[in-house]
Amino acid sequence: MSGTHADALISRQVRRLETLLEERGIVAGAALDELLDAFLSGASPLNGARVVARAWTDPAYKDRLLADGTTAVTELGYAAGGVQPQRLRVVENTADTHNVVVCTLCSCYPVRLLGPSPSWYKSEAYRSRVVREPRAVLREFGVELPERTEITVWDSTAETRYLVLPRRPEGTQALAEEELAALVTRNALIGTGVL
Ligand code: FE
Repeated sequence: MSGTHADALISRQVRRLETLLEERGIVAGAALDELLDAFLSGASPLNGARVVARAWTDPAYKDRLLADGTTAVTELGYAAGGVQPQRLRVVENTADTHNVVVCTLCSCYPVRLLGPSPSWYKSEAYRSRVVREPRAVLREFGVELPERTEITVWDSTAETRYLVLPRRPEGTQALAEEELAALVTRNALIGTGVL
């Protein structure tokens, strides 16, 4: 294949990809910047898991994290990322409360801490239904919460992203921070999973 032929082929493929991304609403506003940032900065759910494990093992860190997530995650080397300034708010699950995160407008997501968002997070079905019937949606994710548990749904924006601080599993007192981090799933950090 000649060079110019290959270049033309790649150009067509790039245009096709851009069209697909736009059609599916994946690229909108700052989203492309976020995706690039994710690839460049090692964005992964393990980052969010490390934040959670630190909060579980260091009560003072947990206090700072809940008070000002944006600043507290920089202690572990995680900047908010993106081109625009972003606020990170960490919401804590307890025996009586469960938090779940959505972006009803598009697909805002803490990419640096969770990696690129799963396709269901961007789906119309999730975005519309989790607000109206969170308990039913959580059940479809295999999360069965007691009736008395209050569910709070947090709607992300370009300016404010959310991270759920899941409850620490029973019987994990002896585990080290890295071992605890390995227990934390991406869905638990969104609130569509429990540990
Ligand atoms: Fe959004």
